[in-house]
Amino acid sequence: MDTVIEICYFLAAMLFILGLKRMSSPLTARAGILWAGSGMLVATLITFFWPGMENYLLMTVAIAIGGVAAWWSGRKVAMTNMPQMIALYNGMGGGGAGAIAAVELLKGDFHSDAFLTLALLGALIGSVSFSGSIIAFAKLQGLMKRPLRFAFQHHINLVIFALALAAGGLIIKTGDTAGIGLLIFFALALAFGVLKTLPIGGADMPVVISLYNALTGLAVGVEGFVLDNAAMIIAGTVVGAAGTLLTQLMARAMNRSIGHVLFGSFGEEHGEEQETVEGSLKPIDVTDAGIMMAYAERVIIVPGYGMAVAQAQHKIKELMHVLLDRGIDVKFAIHPVAGRMPGHMNVLLAEADVPYDRLYDLDEINAQFPQTDVVLVIGANDVVNPMARSNPESPIYGMPILNVDQARNVIIIKRGQGKGFSGVENALFYADNARMLYGDGQGMTGELIQAIKQL
Ligand code: NDP
Repeated sequence: MDTVIEICYFLAAMLFILGLKRMSSPLTARAGILWAGSGMLVATLITFFWPGMENYLLMTVAIAIGGVAAWWSGRKVAMTNMPQMIALYNGMGGGGAGAIAAVELLKGDFHSDAFLTLALLGALIGSVSFSGSIIAFAKLQGLMKRPLRFAFQHHINLVIFALALAAGGLIIKTGDTAGIGLLIFFALALAFGVLKTLPIGGADMPVVISLYNALTGLAVGVEGFVLDNAAMIIAGTVVGAAGTLLTQLMARAMNRSIGHVLFGSFGEEHGEEQETVEGSLKPIDVTDAGIMMAYAERVIIVPGYGMAVAQAQHKIKELMHVLLDRGIDVKFAIHPVAGRMPGHMNVLLAEADVPYDRLYDLDEINAQFPQTDVVLVIGANDVVNPMARSNPESPIYGMPILNVDQARNVIIIKRGQGKGFSGVENALFYADNARMLYGDGQGMTGELIQAIKQL
């Protein structure tokens, strides 16, 4: 039976790796999720046959509760609330790793100090990831409105972390893995996760979640060594590596260093001063916007967070077809952090069946804006703000942006004078070649389609 179990865990690990590989392209991502999910199913089922396993009823009840809650929330969650859902699930992963470590520590049956150290390391990382992710969830869900900052915060955090390490060291030294020391150790680790996350601003939250995701993977991998479980080691390592890469990618796309995310706050370096923007906002009516687009040769559509809020992706696809039918070249420019999570726009446009080959990354499309007749910006703001290029005083200075302002004409659909996520003014809206088409993303795109069809 042991061999069968080992083979199944190996199979599960392979399914995780192949699933993750498939998730790297929108074309195969759905299959990737199914592959990884099958891996999890294999790993879960075979665990029932682990030698000496008992508590079958408790296991089944826990799986049923977790499974139903995940299925229900997965179906219900709005696309715009996905980041907090990921934070919550990630917290559960970290908590799971911490709980496994706690059980092993309470048993106290370690071959050597090395294994005890690994269990404590997994417990520390898992607990920090658990409590930190819960705070991240609360912030993204709007349950905690403002970052909480106080004097000597980073120093206090450092002391708490050092105390947690000291408590761990004491447990190793005394070998007392089930005493009050363990309780203090866990309390300090959980407190550190909470206090480390409290001062971080909303804009940095998805980067933090991704970082906690990497930490959860690491914790699971470390606990895999303690339990001698190949599936946990491989799955944990894969999640840890993927989470680390994603963290770097997001931080780079927002021009934030990981250090700034953890020890600074969004906009802090530049103060809160508002930059003045020259020019005026020039509204356009939908008929004129329709004419402009209908007689263009090349159109680029730039979606942003507002498209997600308005759920306008299906209308945008319809608009694309109306333009294509008139022989117009239509492309989509996708900024890596448009929306509120990585790949947000890709997911929405895929849901509306916009062909993947019409979607272009920032690097691919930026050189094409000067030859473009009309750029239609729908609900995007920060990711098209030229201040990021030109104004060193701006909080978003240095963030790579889509160079929409270099196009011949720009039409911007948004409801009013609402700012972007960073809260700064957008110079694009005041540019000579820009026109504001005020209205809800979905409704206004519908009107634009009708206006073009009547020409
Ligand atoms: P922004 O958040 O900068 O701007 C969205 C704009 O959409 C607003 O100006 C708003 O203006 C408009 N809008 C809102 N609702 C609607 C609606 N129903 N119809 C039409 N327009 C609407 O979006 P971007 O996508 O440009 O930028 C994303 C920002 O989020 C960046 O700052 C990025 O760094 C940040 N971020 C992204 C993450 C990611 O992983 N993608 C993670 C964390 C932060 P108005 O109110 O006038 O309509």
